[in-house]
Amino acid sequence: MHDPAHHHATPDGPLCPHCGYLLRGVRSPVCVECGRERCRRLTFFDRIEFDAFRAAFGLARVPYVCSDPGQGILGMATVIDGVNIRPVIMLAWKNFDAAEAALEEFGLALPVALVDSASPFCPCCGFSLRRGVEDPRCEVCGTRCAWYEEHDEECADLELEP
Ligand SMILES: [Zn+2]
Ligand SMILES: [Zn+2]
Repeated sequence: MHDPAHHHATPDGPLCPHCGYLLRGVRSPVCVECGRERCRRLTFFDRIEFDAFRAAFGLARVPYVCSDPGQGILGMATVIDGVNIRPVIMLAWKNFDAAEAALEEFGLALPVALVDSASPFCPCCGFSLRRGVEDPRCEVCGTRCAWYEEHDEECADLELEP
């Protein structure tokens, strides 16, 4: 699965997935512009995984919204005529815990968002993550993050300098 959270983060901050409003510095789980729930966009490369996530959420009654533009198209194509048709699940922040519990039953998990430790901001909501914490979990939206390995090595090298 592709790291999903980067889809609506921009250099200026995260955008509302519904109306595109710039939600920089906004902690609310609801968009201040359109009033809809902010969510994490999970993009799937693998239709079987997409179906497994939907089955897990359905059984545990975790609310979600999904779009599957390639539905009915045979095979595993993800791009048709240059248009991305990967299936997507939108999961509201408040449902992260329920979603994780539901997925665990199936041996699945929400993907961890990889973050560059040189710019330690949650890719889903744009708030800063605590440096030095291994596998930080965003305190605002609840997205689980991890640091890019290569930067950890760079930091270790720097510490060795006198
Ligand atoms: Zn909005
Ligand atoms: Zn966050």
